[in-house]
Amino acid sequence: MSVTEGFVGCIGNTPLIRLAALSKETGCEILGKAEFMNPGGSVKDRAALYIIQDAERRGVLKPGGTVVEGTAGNTGIGLAHLCAARGYRCVIVIPDTQSPAKMELLRVLGAEVRPVPAAPYKDPNNYQKIAGRLAQELGNAIWANQFDNLVNRQAHYETTGPEIWRDTAGTVDAFVCATGTGGTLAGVGRFLKEKNPDVRIVLADPHGSGLYSYVKTGEIKVEGNSITEGIGSSRITANLEGTPIDDAYRVDDQSCVTMVYRLLREEGFYVGGSTGINVAAAVWLARQMGPGHTIVTLLCDRGELYRARLFNPDWLKEKGLVPA
Ligand code: PMP
Repeated sequence: MSVTEGFVGCIGNTPLIRLAALSKETGCEILGKAEFMNPGGSVKDRAALYIIQDAERRGVLKPGGTVVEGTAGNTGIGLAHLCAARGYRCVIVIPDTQSPAKMELLRVLGAEVRPVPAAPYKDPNNYQKIAGRLAQELGNAIWANQFDNLVNRQAHYETTGPEIWRDTAGTVDAFVCATGTGGTLAGVGRFLKEKNPDVRIVLADPHGSGLYSYVKTGEIKVEGNSITEGIGSSRITANLEGTPIDDAYRVDDQSCVTMVYRLLREEGFYVGGSTGINVAAAVWLARQMGPGHTIVTLLCDRGELYRARLFNPDWLKEKGLVPA
């Protein structure tokens, strides 16, 4: 018998997929880790699980308790699933600029959704800070605090990183991905560097994020904006602090959209914008490193969440983008 233990048992151990057309074109192995196959549909299921398990172990999350989080979406979706599976109340504070589809889904999953106006991190009414205050006010509640709760990167250090090392049999030459909280890049980056210091850890950053300039010059400089959701940052989160990053690419929205459509039409994968950023950067990195290298990136979440945007020709046109 081979039986999986509930929702939790389905998290992680995602396939590492060879992207055939892109590998052929670059002469490298372009491998995408299919995080959209996690049961909540994204890479964030891993962090959500670690955060809840850690709070339970420390005794701060008790039966009947509440999990509060400020999230652009996917962490909330993972938390909402887990709260349903474990009997907790889930309250999600979300910037009102996020896809209506994400908010709708959170409500369906049983979360209480509180949309708030988007405000920069330094503003006391930033969604993350509102979530922190709300958890205190509610009582018998925890604030998941994915940005600065180091259990987030630990999830990737203990699961995503080792899975990549195992599934490439240690042949991985580079890992490239975008960051939101920084948990994925930090956890995977640290793990792979410890295994082999020559593995290149590369950041893929959208416009409107300050991390590209930080890697290149040591200074955070935010310029422009992006249609992508859930990635980019204007600060070094506790999770990202100290991550061994070798290089960075700034990926524009058109390159992201082009890659999202290539992934659908040439590889058959229906994925979201952060995956477009990741895979576009992986291809650029392959060209820079030259043929014969193994480059791993993440396929973060499904396109369905962005159907009304990324996959809506009128919306794209409005943004001056073309689906090709
Ligand atoms: N892609 C998507 C779609 C996300 O929602 C997130 C997390 N907000 C990321 C990538 C980035 O992951 P991390 O928070 O681990 O940096």
